[in-house]
Parts: sequence; C-alpha cells; structure tokens
Amino acid sequence: MTRAAVYLPDGFDGSDGRDGPGRLEEIEFDVIEAESAQVVLPEVTVRDERGGTLFTGGGLVFDPSAGGGPWAGATADRAARAFGVVNTAFHTQRTLRYVSGLLGHPLPHLLVRIGMHEQSRGWGGGHYRLPGQGAGADPEATSPAGEVHLGGGAGFVARSGTEQYFRAPAHNPAIICHEVGHHVCRHTADFRLNRLRPPGQQTNKKTALDEGTADVITAIMLGTPDIYGWHRHAIPHTERRRRKLDPRWTMAHFQGGPDSDPHDDGMVWASACWSARQRVTDISADPTRFDTLLLRGLELAGRDNPAGLNRDALRERRHFSRLMAAMARADPALAPHVLAAMADHGIHLGVSNNDLCRAARTNPSRLVNE
Ligand SMILES: [Zn+2]
Repeated sequence: MTRAAVYLPDGFDGSDGRDGPGRLEEIEFDVIEAESAQVVLPEVTVRDERGGTLFTGGGLVFDPSAGGGPWAGATADRAARAFGVVNTAFHTQRTLRYVSGLLGHPLPHLLVRIGMHEQSRGWGGGHYRLPGQGAGADPEATSPAGEVHLGGGAGFVARSGTEQYFRAPAHNPAIICHEVGHHVCRHTADFRLNRLRPPGQQTNKKTALDEGTADVITAIMLGTPDIYGWHRHAIPHTERRRRKLDPRWTMAHFQGGPDSDPHDDGMVWASACWSARQRVTDISADPTRFDTLLLRGLELAGRDNPAGLNRDALRERRHFSRLMAAMARADPALAPHVLAAMADHGIHLGVSNNDLCRAARTNPSRLVNE
C-alpha cells in the first residue's frame, strides 16, 4: 500500500465557486508499479505520454497545483502531471472495481494515455478508442481491448476569487469516469457489435445509448446527477450543454439521425436511468440494486449474437427500449418501478427511438414532466 493524494467525489450540489473537481484527500493505494511516467494497477495502466520522470520511487502524494499547465512553471506542472496520473488511476480502478463487483467478473485491463493528440493545440477532453476508424484510433498503436485517451489540458475553469484552474482532464473525475463507462459498454452491451468485427477494424462511432450509459455510470460513481457541474458551472442547469441528468429531458427532446449529437440524445437515456435510480431509493431499496440491474441488463443486451453484422441488428441495438427490456429481465421484482420511472421520460417497451420521440411530441400530456 502506498499513500496517494486524489480528488474524492464531494457530492457537489451545483453551487458555484468550488476550488477543485473534488475533495482533496490522501488514501491508501494498492499499486503494482509506479515508475517514470506510468502507474500500473491490476485493472488499469495509466501513462503520461509526454515523457519525463514523474515517479521516482517515493509516495504518490502530489500537489494538484491548480491543474499545472504551460504557464504554471516547470515544478508545478510536473507535480500536476504526476497528480493527474495518480488521480486517473484511482478513479479508473474505483469504477472498474465497482462494475466488475456487480457483474461478478473482471473487465479487460484498460490502458489510459494522457497528453494525447496535442500536436497542434491543447486538448481539454477525452475519448475512448478501439483500433479502427476515428480520430486518434491508429490501428497499429491502439489496444484491441480499448484505450482511454485524455488531453494534456486546455483553457481554465474559474475558481472562487480570481484564481483559475487549468482544465486538465486527468484531474477531473467526471471525464475519467465517463470514458471508463465506454469501456464498460464495449465489453457488456457492445452497442456497435464490435466483437463481430476484426479486432483492428472496430468502429469508434458512439450511439446515444453508449453516451448516456457512460453518463449514468459517472453519476453513480460521483453520487450526483450534475456530473460536469465543476467545469461547466457557468452554464445554466436548464441548458443541455450543462449535461446535468434531470427529469426535464424526455423523448420529446430526442433528435436521432446522422446529424444528431449522441451526447445530447444520450442525456434523455441517462436522465431516465437516474430517475429510475431515484425511484428505487424512494421505495427504500438500496440504489446498488438499480446499479446491478443496469450492469446485468447491459450484459444481457450484449449476449444475443445476431447471425451477422447487419443493419437491422445494429439499428435494434440503438433502441432505448431494447436495453430497458434487458434491464427488466435482470431484476423482475424491481422492474415495475424502473419501467414506471422511464415511462415518465417517454420510454416504453417494444418501441423504436423514433416512434418514442414522435409519441412524446404529439402527446406530451402523457409525460409527467412536461
Ligand atoms: Zn463519450
């Protein structure tokens, strides 16, 4: 066991002026190896690709240094980068351990690479990549089991007073958990049937279900529906761009089609899941029971193999109602509560996304939240 400094979820309630993306704490951390710019744990390897020596064999307590960055000075930036590797390793392990505990088996080892894709300008985001199409998915260099890529940081988040925090994704538990959520989806529901594609020719195109499920896993791990409340605190709660899970988002807001943003459409799914989880706690059941239903449902949804990789099979896997049906099968006793909460968002069994959307728009009075 090694002492490490990380940001723990702080149950952020959406008020402004928080100093960092979590509560800074020292914990005991079970690492296999920490050397040069890499930390290895049983579940994940996290590497800062910008090189240099961040770990020299001492403990893993580093000052977040307000995110570091190019203007912070070399010592502060190095400390911030070391903190980012440790913080990323902690949240990836925490998420994967929780998920695999509910599933009853481990998921493939995940590689997280920090400081990626920064040749021309800084990047304050992250993505999940499989070897195949899509930016940053070099088939030669990407692990077939999937990788998370995080930028080295870009821009600043305002803090209380006049101080600013460099927007380093590795410091932000919400971004880390969301990307790990895609790894969970890939190895359970597998919405794009990547397991039927050659390992080096998988697709990185995400569906709304993939984005929404990654968001709800983030909300579960952080214990708040306002998952991006720290770095998006300047965006009103009522705007989509805030990405706060909320009863207001129903199938009436669903766009669909090739020009839609899967993050926006996924927010309907994530909000419905969060309402269902709230409903489960309202009947005095443990929220973990909802989490188990979600995870086992994802796994059940991924289990039936179509005859081949065809358009119908892919289209079906985009349907919210298909995953909801699998979740209901995972815990029949809890299912009526979950289905009732999801109906409030306009999601019903056996109906395609487009038809759910049409129904919600023509008959909004059926939606409790309209
Ligand atoms: Zn995503």
